[in-house]
Amino acid sequence: MNEYDSNRIKDFTKKIGYLSTTKIDEANCFVLNTCHIREKATEKVYHEVGRVKKKFRNKEKPIVLIVGCVAQAEGDLLLMREKYIDAVIGPQSYHNINDIILAIESKKKIKLNYTEFDVINKFDEINLNKNTDSKVSTFLSIQEGCDKFCKFCVVPYTRGPEYSRSLDEILKEAKQQVDNGSKEIILLGQNVNAYKYNNKRLSDLLFALEKISGLQRIRYTTSHPKDLTQDLIEAHGDCKKLMPILHLPVQSGSSRMLKLMNRNHTIEEYLKLIEKLKIKKPTMKFSSDFIIAYPGETDKDFEKTVQLMKEVKFINSYSFIFSPRPGTPAATLKEIDGLIAKKRLAYFQNTSNDVKSEYRNQLVNTIVNVLFENKVKDENKYFGRDEHFNSVIVESNTKLSGEIKEVKINNCNQNTLFGEVVSASKKVKVEYAA
Ligand code: SF4
Repeated sequence: MNEYDSNRIKDFTKKIGYLSTTKIDEANCFVLNTCHIREKATEKVYHEVGRVKKKFRNKEKPIVLIVGCVAQAEGDLLLMREKYIDAVIGPQSYHNINDIILAIESKKKIKLNYTEFDVINKFDEINLNKNTDSKVSTFLSIQEGCDKFCKFCVVPYTRGPEYSRSLDEILKEAKQQVDNGSKEIILLGQNVNAYKYNNKRLSDLLFALEKISGLQRIRYTTSHPKDLTQDLIEAHGDCKKLMPILHLPVQSGSSRMLKLMNRNHTIEEYLKLIEKLKIKKPTMKFSSDFIIAYPGETDKDFEKTVQLMKEVKFINSYSFIFSPRPGTPAATLKEIDGLIAKKRLAYFQNTSNDVKSEYRNQLVNTIVNVLFENKVKDENKYFGRDEHFNSVIVESNTKLSGEIKEVKINNCNQNTLFGEVVSASKKVKVEYAA
């Protein structure tokens, strides 16, 4: 989401003559787009501002803006502690950035904190601005905010309530991205499958996007199991451009823990969804997020999480020890002993690595379809992703960016598959990946 927002900020600021640069010493405005999901985010902001301060010690002070969820959650504190910051702008207010920059430039007295939940105006402004992102695989924000209030999560407080963009505006922006050269669109939302605009749901949007010629692949992230409705499950079988992988955060394998977290579903319900999706699309794979050592987690609860990993065989998982976020209900709960938490995380990550290795080794000597994104710097190699979002690298002297090719996988490590583009004569000798 931040990558999408940063691109849109660049599209906005271009209009007043501010272009992005890699020459940091020459920049006259710094926009630090921040995330508040993990701990120490605020400290990182101070650290980055400190670096700018040092670089510009004997020069004219650049404009320094803090954008994103840290600005939203801790804006006043940032302004109080670090006077070098000119203004803080929340994730639903960044459409005001040009006015703010121009006012600071002309030394007008302005307010410093822009953290209103002005999401409707934000998307109205975004809709008026052409999306210039031309990456082969590109993000498109369709929904923001969350009404679920999981007890550990800051999103409902930093991004505000659920809001869905107009279907027509999303299609318009998707067409712009495809015209720019994008082949894959990843639909974004904090709770993307809660998408609902004038009775149109995510499944309607997927089928509408599928009709865009030139668009080859569609993905969406991140979903909540509660919003995985039957029409969306059907879409996974019927929408040909929708890729057969779903990131479906579960957080814990214990229904008791899910209740404590206010996740509003049980493990049995979660597994039922997985089963339905697999029936509809047998090649479906899953990835997920896990919070280890959430307050109240017993050994037995933890074992259930490990069991779930073995049962579903998530091909990717993102696991972290519970980290209290200020202002959330879980922040006041008694934390689990740090040593126990670390041991559980290590055990869980070993298990998930084993599951992932087994899956990846099964891919060796099979053929996968890869959408190539870019050349690997200074090498005759190209990077792309297969349908299950696995990273794939091949050697090639010819340009592959933007093309979908069949690739025979020869080797793998924990994060990447290595292979070769299959020539027609080799196709009969190898198996397709299931
Ligand atoms: S559903 Fe996701 S975004 Fe919403 S509160 Fe829960 S964890 Fe946060």
